[in-house]
Amino acid sequence: MHDLEGKNALVTGATSGIGLAIATALTAAGAKTTINGLGNAEQIAAALGTIAAAGKHPPEHRPADMRDPEQIRAMVQTLQQHAGAVDILVNNAGIQHTARVEHFPRDKWDDILAINLSSAFHASAAVLPGMRQNNYGRIVNIASAHGLVASKEKAAYVSAKHAMVGLTKVVALENAEANITCNAICPGWVLTPLVQAQIDKIAAAQSIGNEAATELLLQEKQPSRRFTRAEDVAAAVLFLLSPAGDNMTGGCLTMDGGWTSQ
Ligand code: NAD
Repeated sequence: MHDLEGKNALVTGATSGIGLAIATALTAAGAKTTINGLGNAEQIAAALGTIAAAGKHPPEHRPADMRDPEQIRAMVQTLQQHAGAVDILVNNAGIQHTARVEHFPRDKWDDILAINLSSAFHASAAVLPGMRQNNYGRIVNIASAHGLVASKEKAAYVSAKHAMVGLTKVVALENAEANITCNAICPGWVLTPLVQAQIDKIAAAQSIGNEAATELLLQEKQPSRRFTRAEDVAAAVLFLLSPAGDNMTGGCLTMDGGWTSQ
């Protein structure tokens, strides 16, 4: 495993799911990791405990609401004052809501664009000056298969993730000469609370059990008919941070069981 000792990492939306797996892997590799994300005190303590058990640097939690640019920029500023430049930024926070365009609630549209897209812009803007000063930085944006192709009833999510892929390319181009890389990872289905909610919706709509609803969800989009694991996404992040990833920038790594090859 590539040694991340001496590196400061920030993972947004890491109190659950993919972000938690990424924060755990970064800590196991030696990074000093700060997580952000929602949850009650018990959930946050449990996430911090999982991460802490993986490595020697105790993780910290910052509660910034990813809908609020001021809170995002203040979080990064405080972090930089306490620990120095952020070397590794993983923009991972995200939410989902499904509805046809004409029924899509305005507040859900605003929240999804803010959390799944704009937060990555604000966090990247806040960390880049420090990265440029150090001539080192790694930004990984957790986009989605929905950053490359669309599905019905996901207007906000698909728009945000497509734009995140675009943002990834611009940040990569603007910083290519400064040893700063920016890449997107585009997973297909990963079994996390975000996806379980969609399985529950299928189960309720069709009056079927969890297993049958899971099978339906997978077979509709993901040819491998199995989930990508959160730990696999974390391993891909570590790969992008390894020397093998030094000249990879502006790219999009699909981990979708063939979804976007169709
Ligand atoms: P999850 O629900 O398990 O985790 C989402 C995280 O974002 C949580 O830590 C949550 O607290 C945080 N979050 C939500 N709103 C927030 C806010 N306002 N401020 C701060 N944090 C907030 O979901 P997940 O599946 O692990 O998703 C993580 C990322 O991966 C998302 O960007 C999602 O779009 C993306 N993704 C997920 C899948 C999948 O199948 N699960 C596939 C492709 C991409």
